[in-house]
Amino acid sequence: MTSLFNEFDLWGPLDPAADAGYGEDKPKRKGFFTDTSICIGCKACEVACKEWNDVPADHFDMTATSYDNSHSLNSNQWRHVAFIEQPRQRQPTVDLGMPTRRPAEDDILGGMLADGAEEAAQDGVPDFRWLMSSDVCKHCTHAACLDVCPTGSLFRSEFGTVVVQDDICNGCGYCVPACPYGVIERRRGPEGAKNVGIAQKCTLCYDRLGAGQQPACSQACPTQSIQFGDVEELRERAEQRVARLHEAGVMDARLYGNDPHDGVGGTGAFFLLLDEPEVYGFPPDPVVTTRDLPRMFRRAGAAAGALLAGAALAFVGRSR
Ligand code: SF4
Ligand code: SF4
Ligand code: SF4
Repeated sequence: MTSLFNEFDLWGPLDPAADAGYGEDKPKRKGFFTDTSICIGCKACEVACKEWNDVPADHFDMTATSYDNSHSLNSNQWRHVAFIEQPRQRQPTVDLGMPTRRPAEDDILGGMLADGAEEAAQDGVPDFRWLMSSDVCKHCTHAACLDVCPTGSLFRSEFGTVVVQDDICNGCGYCVPACPYGVIERRRGPEGAKNVGIAQKCTLCYDRLGAGQQPACSQACPTQSIQFGDVEELRERAEQRVARLHEAGVMDARLYGNDPHDGVGGTGAFFLLLDEPEVYGFPPDPVVTTRDLPRMFRRAGAAAGALLAGAALAFVGRSR
């Protein structure tokens, strides 16, 4: 169990399952490497997640900013595939085989493209690209949602993942602002759905992992954009993929969440991105929100001690 008073448990690289007290015979840490460069936006992962986990299918409508119809991660959307539409970058574009389009002359979108797009369309290079990325709970090494949960509903599994126990959650909602990624949320509806009022998020298919199966979303992904496995091995695979993309001229390829020295100690679910994290809606430098608790407690303790000492001195002075 993580101690709130040991700074080293709240910061830096560690094996989260071992830190939670699982012994030597625990399985290796499991997670996802999501390679967004080969996501085709089919949303099979979203559907598979809903079907397997009986997540209500509501909140669907067009965002009016893209073809995305599921908006964001929330209590009823444990996977969310972002559709980001970008005009052509000013640097040379490498064809990744992604769907693209060229505007007709009278197409209203033609007027919305960035400077140089028209020229790009003429030289045969795609002038428009989709960035598609399937987002999910990051299963952080240092998970603030779990640190602040007063009931033990959120727990660290033997696979190093973070799971909610629906029947123990009391719906206090402390975990919601604690998550630096805005992932976890209390279910607000629809009326009659199970677990309304209860904190809900991806469990990394804890039930399937226990039965020796891979998660429903990665199993359904037709392009292997979502790769499930041992986190250590996935990190190596991700490094190799980035190196290959750099060799091919895709210099914007970068990893997000794979660094054990980042603000959350690295994530169990990490990503290969083709642009800045903010473009995908990710915080650029996330920090576990409980990191400063030991320092805050120490300062509060020192302040309380000083107050008590002052009161004692005043009492002694008056009694003379
Ligand atoms: S991403 Fe948020 S909800 Fe998921 S483990 Fe990290 S802190 Fe918890
Ligand atoms: S791991 Fe399971 S619960 Fe998590 S997003 Fe994939 S299908 Fe949904
Ligand atoms: S199933 Fe795979 S390819 Fe389809 S949207 Fe999800 S991550 Fe992308």
